[in-house]
Amino acid sequence: MVSCPICSLTVKRSQSNLTCNNCKHLFHPECVSLKKEDVDFLTSANKLWTCQNCTKSMKILQQSDFSNSPVSSQSSDKHFDSTDLKRILSSLDDVRAEQSKLFDLVNNQSKKLDVLDNKFTC
Ligand SMILES: [Zn+2]
Ligand SMILES: [Zn+2]
Repeated sequence: MVSCPICSLTVKRSQSNLTCNNCKHLFHPECVSLKKEDVDFLTSANKLWTCQNCTKSMKILQQSDFSNSPVSSQSSDKHFDSTDLKRILSSLDDVRAEQSKLFDLVNNQSKKLDVLDNKFTC
């Protein structure tokens, strides 16, 4: 059974529904403020439709913003699996560690410069 992420009620294939081109979720037309005619038009014209959630998150961040996407039990819908995500996150940690090392380095350098400045001005 597929449920609409907005009202979390089941979407019957027999009734008019919309599939998001990005997250592949099924939506009730009324939940995304579309009329049945709009849906008919979209389907007959073979137009791709993207839900508000995806449109929003695509505008804000093109990359990995999962916080905006509706929580789903179908993990197969995700763009990449959790092992990929874990790898990316752990490499981010590495980058952060490197970054703080660099910050320390820069701080030490600027302290040295301060000492030099004081020598010249005094
Ligand atoms: Zn709904
Ligand atoms: Zn979507």
